Amino acid sequence: MLAKQQRKRRVGRDDYVRLHPLLLATLGFTAGAIGTLIATIIVAEFHYDDSGVAELIHAQLQQPALWVADFAPFLMAAWSYYLGRSGQNNISALSRQIEALRTQAVMLEHQARHHMTHDVLTNLPNRALLLKRLNRAIRNAKQVKERFAVLRLDVDRFKEINDALGHDHGDQLLTGIANRLLNAVADDTLVARVGGDEFVILVPNIGAVKDATEIAVSIEKTLKQPFTIDTLDVDAQVSIGIALYPDHGNRKQELLQHAEVAMYIAKHEKSKFSLYHSSYDNRSPQRVTLTAELRQAIDRNDLVLQYQPKIRLTPGATPEFEGLIRWPHPRHRTLPPQEFIPLAERTGLIKNVTQWVLTNALQQLIHWHNQGLDASVAVNISAQDLHDDELVDHIAKHLARHNIAPHRLVLEITETSIMVNEQRASDTLHELAKMGVRLSIDDFGTGYSSLSHLSELPIHEIKIDKSFVADMAGNPTHKMIVCATIDLAHNLGLEVIGEGVADERTFRQLDDLGCHSAQGFFISRPLHAQDVAVWARSTKWLSPLTHRH
Ligand code: C2E
Ligand code: MG
Ligand code: MG
Repeated sequence: MLAKQQRKRRVGRDDYVRLHPLLLATLGFTAGAIGTLIATIIVAEFHYDDSGVAELIHAQLQQPALWVADFAPFLMAAWSYYLGRSGQNNISALSRQIEALRTQAVMLEHQARHHMTHDVLTNLPNRALLLKRLNRAIRNAKQVKERFAVLRLDVDRFKEINDALGHDHGDQLLTGIANRLLNAVADDTLVARVGGDEFVILVPNIGAVKDATEIAVSIEKTLKQPFTIDTLDVDAQVSIGIALYPDHGNRKQELLQHAEVAMYIAKHEKSKFSLYHSSYDNRSPQRVTLTAELRQAIDRNDLVLQYQPKIRLTPGATPEFEGLIRWPHPRHRTLPPQEFIPLAERTGLIKNVTQWVLTNALQQLIHWHNQGLDASVAVNISAQDLHDDELVDHIAKHLARHNIAPHRLVLEITETSIMVNEQRASDTLHELAKMGVRLSIDDFGTGYSSLSHLSELPIHEIKIDKSFVADMAGNPTHKMIVCATIDLAHNLGLEVIGEGVADERTFRQLDDLGCHSAQGFFISRPLHAQDVAVWARSTKWLSPLTHRH
């Protein structure tokens, strides 16, 4: 419609512009002709005292000056035509420029409108457009008595991947995820990006509840294949929360919030996806208030460390206990680390968390020693901690204050966190190793580094990730990875431990493969600090030599 009007307007102006030089030429000719006529009359009057037609013709024939004047109309016409044409060219150029500016303005307006409603990186609809579409979906569904689904999807450990691979690669991963999501859903489904690594999918016309879960399964399946970013194969695991209209809410904020609650439950239970249930409400704290509360919990000493034994398969070794943090939240259930450590990492609070953990774990070591249990303690360290100038000093001070031999402290670091700022991480690790603290690579196999690369670092132990260990009995590829890692660790002179050992069969297999140590529910679940000494005294896993009485 707009284009039609513009075309019409352009035609009108162009016609006028086309007429303009001819009109001027006619006017010029007329002016020239009138001039010639007046000159002829004046000459006739002057020479023949009359200006009748005969005198005028006579004057024209007899006076050479008038012959020149006879050219005047033609000269005037040509000159006027020339002026008209150059004016026409100017007007055409001007009109073209106006037209170009107008087109540009329309494009910019269109772009601005697009930016207001779309995410710049992935070009997916953003939160603003999602909210509009949700409103429309609710109106529609109400009218035709239909059900629709809101799926909320979050990339697990995205921050870690982003920090390790660099933001450009992180962006490529998000774009890759966006494209796969678009390919996985039907045309009438809306896929929006609502935050850094958060997407919302709005699926209209859901028949049965299981239709929504089937979509979640198929999305999870599409994202399962690794993403090739430059030369790296990157795995992006996601957690999906599902809320249905009208089953789980009939307002947009309610649906989004309930889908988020379900997503946290999926993350917590490592179940890939979860359908909202009202009983989840008191299990899912809001992130904003959580940050402030976490700060308070650190100050008030409200956090708790549980300890899970790491058992050496050869008897007589000093037992080691890994400190695993929990937060007995006053209003929610006890929160596991996955639900607040990423938040602490995002907000910089991790530094305080790690200092709290180190202080408490080392105090606990002294306490066990006083109870007659000589042990080592392992503490999990985040990527940011390796860039904290105060970490090394803090550890040195604590070890000195409690007179603890540095080799009694083990720091568990994931391979991805080492890659965040390799040089800096390597410097810190060398300083710690020089001090005598032992270093362990946690969750080995889930990151993007190679063992030979890690061998340049002063580490003493590799922990094979539980995802490989847990199902090695039934998954030949995982068993092969475990074997190869154990062999390589042997060749590099490193200790190797399997985590997530949940049954005897796995334990025996690790033992046969020459794994040095094991950790997992089969040996013991994480224990309360006060139960550790009792467990150590009664368990078959530790040699009696461990206890001094
Ligand atoms: P991680 O260091 O790899 O710890 C092992 C996790 O596996 C623990 O979960 C443990 O409870 C669980 N686990 C142990 N044995 C088994 C088993 O046989 N089967 C199964 N399915 N799971 C087993 P948790 O305590 O929830 O900790 C999860 C992660 O949170 C830890 O993984 C660690 O990366 C992080 N984390 C825990 N405490 C801290 C901390 O104080 N600081 C930091 N920065 N991260 C921590
Ligand atoms: Mg660990
Ligand atoms: Mg681990």
